[in-house]
Amino acid sequence: MLERGQPVRRDADDWSPRRILLERRYRTDTPVLVRQYGARRYAPEYPNAVLGGSSVFYGGASMRLREKDFAGWPLSYADLEPFYSEAEVLLGVHGRTGDDPHEPPRTGDYPFAPTPLTPPAQRIERAARSLGYRPFALPMALNFGDGARPRCVRCITCDGFPCQIGAKNDVEVTVLAAAREAGLEIMAGARAARLRLAGDRAVAVEGVGLPAGSPFEVEADTFVLAAGALHTPALLLRTGVEGRPGGGAVGRHLMRHCNGVVAGVFPFRTNPEQVFHKQICLTDFYEDLRAEHGTAVGVIQDIYTPAAPVVRHHAPRGLRHLAGWVTGFMQNLLCIAEDEPRAANAVSLKGERDQYGLEIPAVDHAYTGADEERLGYLVKGARRILRRAGALVTHLYLIDTFSHAVGTARAAAEPDEGAVDAGGRFWGLENVYVTDGSILPHSGGVNPSLTIAAFALRAARALVQR
Ligand SMILES: Cc1cc2nc3c(=O)[nH]c(=O)nc-3n(C[C@H](O)[C@H](O)[C@H](O)COP(=O)(O)OP(=O)(O)OC[C@H]3O[C@@H](n4cnc5c(N)ncnc54)[C@H](O)[C@@H]3O)c2cc1C
Ligand code: SF4
Repeated sequence: MLERGQPVRRDADDWSPRRILLERRYRTDTPVLVRQYGARRYAPEYPNAVLGGSSVFYGGASMRLREKDFAGWPLSYADLEPFYSEAEVLLGVHGRTGDDPHEPPRTGDYPFAPTPLTPPAQRIERAARSLGYRPFALPMALNFGDGARPRCVRCITCDGFPCQIGAKNDVEVTVLAAAREAGLEIMAGARAARLRLAGDRAVAVEGVGLPAGSPFEVEADTFVLAAGALHTPALLLRTGVEGRPGGGAVGRHLMRHCNGVVAGVFPFRTNPEQVFHKQICLTDFYEDLRAEHGTAVGVIQDIYTPAAPVVRHHAPRGLRHLAGWVTGFMQNLLCIAEDEPRAANAVSLKGERDQYGLEIPAVDHAYTGADEERLGYLVKGARRILRRAGALVTHLYLIDTFSHAVGTARAAAEPDEGAVDAGGRFWGLENVYVTDGSILPHSGGVNPSLTIAAFALRAARALVQR
């Protein structure tokens, strides 16, 4: 396995908001160029790069898409269901069957029960229930005390941070640790640039590694691309696959959900004990606009308040002290709305190269009015809940990162509709598979990682059988 990043250090700095969010100790040294919200120019962004990928920084929310979300997929929910179950076991998900009012059919229970709600989560749960909604325990892939691995101490530096003690069930401590024991060799610091082709097959991957910038080439019989929805298409485009079957879809239809955080300001300290509370989810609005929009609306989930130094850093000069102080009185809800797959939202190569000579991916993105309408629908619900919980005022922050990026090598039943088939094989090459978020033809209205894992497990099973 080739990975451009290094393993996270898992030391005290991994729980430091300053070191992780402001000083960005794990940021890549090469950018992605991003043009969004109608901007004229591209701006460089430097996401984190570590072994285990985004899962190391994720919040652990592990949700399944619903049956209707699979309209437009080359496979059904029923095809993926056994692999959702397998992913939940592999990632040690804590959840409770039957609580989610829009839960899709399941063949098995969650491997672990949810942990009891902490006071901030109880506040949201009570408020939502009193409004007639049906909040439930957010399924989470954190180790709350099972097996030999370190137990979660339920801190509030989880979403956006690596887990210092390795209690988050990220890909490094679960899948990769087991695969290493079974003989997987990992080359960290190795940046894959392109595939070398011979006819309809790839024969090698070329790239640059350590010491920084030294070229390498790795030959193999089969190649599985899992560089994420921004870098997998970049690798395929550098390979020159545009003219091949499926090549026309590479890079297009980028989605990232239309996400926003509604912050409520309360007349009391919302979390004086600074306890973990990413525990509540609401799917009540999920199907409300399906007939009109042809998509899900999305979900509302509990999310942490950013630490005071981070809020101070981003606040306007003159208001910094006040902004930092107010964080103690804030409680937030995350709204995740489905966004549409527009061909113009794309990853492409514009000819600009990084310090290693690799063409840099450029991202163009704009939301549709319907995407914003769906987010607005959720925001209205989130404001109602926060007000009922006691918030005096609420404020919406849009999330403009590509943390939920999907869709740039979409799976489809035909090569002129997508880049890969229902098993993840790239239509234009016999031995190249894609198993990351790129394959999602629609984003759906839930967090993406469990679906990515389920699709990857299904693709892996088929690949092994071959
Ligand atoms: C802060 C945060 C919170 C999140 N919270 C949640 C959540 O609670 N629930 C949820 O479901 N989802 C969450 N997500 C989203 C989730 O983490 C991603 O959807 C998922 O991990 C994406 O998986 P992937 O395999 O597509 O790509 P990634 O996880 O991005 O993996 C791609 C890997 O490829 C490496 N790579 C890239 N280019 C190259 C190259 N050229 N050569 C070699 N290696 C390369 C990268 O370094 C990375 O390790 C969150 C994301 C973030 C950032
Ligand atoms: S201890 Fe628990 S809550 Fe804290 S980072 Fe680790 S997994 Fe997340």
